[in-house]
Amino acid sequence: MDDIRIPNDATYSPIALTDVMVAAPIAARVLLGATLPGRVLQAAAFGLYAGSVAKDWTARQGMKRIDFRAEFGSDVDHLVPQSDADRRSEIARLGVLLNEGWTDDHVEQALLAKRVDEVLTDYMASITGQRVETSHRIRTVTLTSLVFPFAMGACDMLSGDVAIFRDTGIFAPHIIAHEFVHRKGYWKELHAQALAYLALRNSGDPYLVQAARAERLHRQLRVVAGEDPEAFKEAVDEAGLREELHDAFLALRPDPGRLQSIVSDGMKQMYDMRLKLTGQNGLSDYDLGFTNFLHTFAQSSSARQPAEQARL
Ligand SMILES: [Zn+2]
Repeated sequence: MDDIRIPNDATYSPIALTDVMVAAPIAARVLLGATLPGRVLQAAAFGLYAGSVAKDWTARQGMKRIDFRAEFGSDVDHLVPQSDADRRSEIARLGVLLNEGWTDDHVEQALLAKRVDEVLTDYMASITGQRVETSHRIRTVTLTSLVFPFAMGACDMLSGDVAIFRDTGIFAPHIIAHEFVHRKGYWKELHAQALAYLALRNSGDPYLVQAARAERLHRQLRVVAGEDPEAFKEAVDEAGLREELHDAFLALRPDPGRLQSIVSDGMKQMYDMRLKLTGQNGLSDYDLGFTNFLHTFAQSSSARQPAEQARL
């Protein structure tokens, strides 16, 4: 098998280089009353960062990229809308499957990240014939978590640096897999959602399969309930989940404080616009697009990959 290794040097720095680049002069002014040490630190961090990005870019030139339309019959600009009735029946079936397969197997984050990376690398290699080896380091704190309070994780597309902001329990494997798809060079949200799901769902590992199904159910519930937190809660109540699952789903959408929701809504709109400007459908790619992608793949007559991969 053909192998390439993307070094991801930036991910091994003890704190996020982007944070140092942004915050070093401010921190130095606060702590030392001087900006020069901050600027020196900032320049050093920028040098390391740029070096890391350049090395990764060079390594990525040899990468075989997945052609989503050809492999799955589905892509950002080719999505067949799933009907509301279909969504509701999928919600009911996912609820039953999650209840039956309940796995309470909490894994420490670093170990989980390694496992998820293996599964994802294997899955992508099963399509392209090439293993794209990347770092499986993740961090828990970056400045981004303050700016995007609604996000659960983030990947710096240039350096591949990944941060996971909170422990989301059963959803964690999917969130990590999503960010790792970005790290492996796919920056569209729909692609990250879809590859993360397909890799975990077809991994044969009950804890990872559970995470894939939980993410799919979460996204279906969001499509059906819209932006209303009350409607989301009702939809979760109606899904007939066992207590552990029910609580995990409700914890995804705590009622936001008023100020936080104003800030968050503003950032969401900006983020939505950024997605639209970069050839994506917007924030809807996380849920509406993602579920339509799997629906389209499952029905496709032209996909190279077997449609069973999109099963519940
Ligand atoms: Zn993403």
